[in-house]
Amino acid sequence: MRRPVVAGNWKMNLNGQAAVELAAAIVKGGIDGSADIVLCPPNVYLMSVVDSTRASSVGVGAQNAYFEADGAFTGETSVAMLVDCGASHVILGHSERRQLLGETDAVVNKKLHAVMASPLVPIVCVGETLAEREAGKTVEVVRRQCEGAFLGISEDQAARVVLAYEPVWAIGTGKTASPEQAQEVHLDLRNWFEKRYTSALAQGIRILYGGSVKGSNAKELLSKPDIDGALVGGASLKADEFLQIIAAAH
Ligand code: PEP
Repeated sequence: MRRPVVAGNWKMNLNGQAAVELAAAIVKGGIDGSADIVLCPPNVYLMSVVDSTRASSVGVGAQNAYFEADGAFTGETSVAMLVDCGASHVILGHSERRQLLGETDAVVNKKLHAVMASPLVPIVCVGETLAEREAGKTVEVVRRQCEGAFLGISEDQAARVVLAYEPVWAIGTGKTASPEQAQEVHLDLRNWFEKRYTSALAQGIRILYGGSVKGSNAKELLSKPDIDGALVGGASLKADEFLQIIAAAH
C-alpha cells in the first residue's frame, strides 16, 4: 500500500504574512496523518512556514535546489541550505523551470544526485507539452525525462523519490488530464521503473499527478490505481481547496 502524498507548489506567490496564514489554516484544517502533506513556499518564506507547521506532520519543501554544495553561484540555494532551513522535500525539474529557465534532463540529474546525498525527499517532475501529446510522443517524452533524471541513481536511492507526472498543457490552464489519460501514463511510468529497477521498486514508488487539480476533480483522479497523490499549484493557494484535495487523498 503506497502512502499518498499531496504537495502544494505555491510558486512565486504570496507574501510572508499570507504564507504563514495559509500554512496555519492548512495545519488547523485537520490533517489526519494518513497522507504525506507538503507545502512548498518560495525559499524566502521557508523558515517561517517551517515554524508554522512545526507542531504538525506537515512537511515543507523547496521548489528548486542547486547541485553545487557552495561557491560563487549568485542567486542559487544549495541542498544543505534547504536542510538547514528545515525543509523536508524539494521539487526538481518542474516544467516551468525546464521551459522558462532552461533546465535540462542533465541538470535535473545533477540536482537529484545532490539531493540524494541529503535527507531531503525529491519530488521529480516529468511531463509532455501539448505538441508532444498531439504528436503521440507522451510516453517517449516522459520515459526520456525519467532516463535522464535517474541516470546513475541506485535502486535504494530511487525508492526515496516521489515522481510527479505533470502534463505541461494541464499546468495552470484549467485543463486537467482525464483520470483515464493520467492513469495510462502513470501505469507506463510504473512499468518503466520495473524495467529500469525492479518490480518491488515499481510497486513502491509514489507517482503523483499534477495539472489543474482542484477540490472538485481530485477524488476521481486520486481514485485511479496508479495515482498516488497530487502536486497542486493554483488550488494549493486556497486552504479550503487544498484541504478538499487532501480529503480526497485519504
Ligand atoms: C504545478 O505547478 O505543479 C501545477 C500542477 O500547477 P496547477 O495545479 O496550477 O496546474
